[in-house]
Amino acid sequence: MEKNKPDGRKRALITGVTGQDGAYLARLLLGKDYQVFGLVARRGSDALWRLRKLEVDKDVTLLVGDVTDLSSLLRAIEQAQPTEFYNLAAQSFVDKSWDLPSVTVQVSGMAVTNVLEAIRCTDRKIRFYQATSSEVFGRVQAPVQDESTPFHPRSPYGVAKAFAHWMTVNYRESHGLHASSGILFNHESPLRGPEFVTRKISAGAARIKLGRQDRLKLGNLDAKRDWGFAGDYVDAMWRMLQQDAADDYVVATGRNVSVREFCRIAFSHVGLDYEKFVEVDPALFRRAEVDTVLGSAAKAKAKLGWSPKTSLEELVAMMVDADLGRLEKGILS
Ligand code: NDP
Ligand code: GDP
Repeated sequence: MEKNKPDGRKRALITGVTGQDGAYLARLLLGKDYQVFGLVARRGSDALWRLRKLEVDKDVTLLVGDVTDLSSLLRAIEQAQPTEFYNLAAQSFVDKSWDLPSVTVQVSGMAVTNVLEAIRCTDRKIRFYQATSSEVFGRVQAPVQDESTPFHPRSPYGVAKAFAHWMTVNYRESHGLHASSGILFNHESPLRGPEFVTRKISAGAARIKLGRQDRLKLGNLDAKRDWGFAGDYVDAMWRMLQQDAADDYVVATGRNVSVREFCRIAFSHVGLDYEKFVEVDPALFRRAEVDTVLGSAAKAKAKLGWSPKTSLEELVAMMVDADLGRLEKGILS
C-alpha cells in the first residue's frame, strides 16, 4: 500500500500543471484533499490562466523547474516529497513538432528519462504517471487500437511519445518502479490551446456567430479523431496510480468523427451551416497525416472502473459556449 506523508495527506507533483490537463488534474486532486505541487518554467506571460479559470491557482504550490533540467526535478521532488508524480509536460502540438523536432524530442521524449531517474535516485515508492498519446498509433495497424496494437508514429511528437512510453515500461520492468503509461486519445475542453483544431473551430464558430469573422480556414477535414473531455480523462490518470500494480491503459471514448463532423456539430450549435463558412486551405495540411484513430478503453473500464461521462455533443457545446462568453466579455478577440 502507498504510504501518506506525516501530515496524512497524499502529495502529488504535476509537471505541465499550467496546461489543459494539468489544470483539470490539479482540481481533481485538490478535491480529494491532496497537497498539489506544480512544476512551472514560467515561460509565458500569463502561465496561470487555466489554474485561475478553475479557481485552483491559490491552492497549487508552484515550484520552478523544467523537465529537461534534471537538477530542477531533483529539487522539486525534495521540496514536494510527492507520493504521486504526474508527468504531463510536453511540446504537445503535433504540427509544431515538424518545425521543432529536437525540442519536441527533448521535452516530450528524452526528458521522461530525467523524471524517471529523479524518482529512482530519490524515492522509488513514488507512483509515476506518463502522459502517452494515441499519436503513437499514427498509421494505425488495427481498426480499433488498444494496449496491444503496434505503434507507427507519424510525427516527431508521436516518435517522442513512443520513446517515453517504452522508457516508462522499461523502468517498471527493470527498476520495479510503480510507473504507468496512459495512452490517451485526443481530449479537449474550453481550456484547450487555440492552435488545436477543436478550439480553432469552437472559437471560429463563436466569432462568426457574433459577426467578428467571415470565414474559418482549416486543413484536412477528413481526418478522424476519437475526441473526449479532458475533465473525464484526468480521472483515469488518477485511477491508474491507485492500483496495486502499475500498468498501461488506453483511454478513449470508442467513437470517432471527422473534423468536418466536428465543424457541423459546432456550427449547428449556434444555428449556422458550417459549409457556408469553412474553407479548406491546403497550406494547413500535415506533412504526414494520422488519418484516423479509434480507441478501445475496455481494459480501463474493466480494471479501473473508468468510462467517459461527457458526449461529443456536450463537449462541443461546452467549448462553443465558453468561446461565445469570452468574446462577449472581451477576453477573446
Ligand atoms: P498542454 O500543451 O496544454 O500542456 C503542456 C504543459 O507542458 C504546459 O504546462 C507547458 O508549460 C508544459 N511544458 C512544456 N515544456 C516544458 C518543459 N520543458 N518543462 C516543464 N514543463 C513544460 O498539453 P495538455 O494538457 O493537452 O496535455 C498534457 C499531456 O498529455 C501532454 O504531455 C500531452 O502531450 C499529452 N497528451 C495530450 C492529449 C490531448 O488530447 N490533450 C492526448 C494525449 C496525450 P508552458 O505552457 O509554460 O510551455
Ligand atoms: P492532433 O490529433 O494532436 O494532431 O490534434 P489537432 O487538433 O492539432 O489536429 C487534429 C486533426 O485536425 C489533424 O488530423 C489535423 O490535420 C486536422 N486539422 C484540420 N485543420 C486543422 C487546423 O487548422 N489546425 C489543426 N491543428 N488541425 C487541423
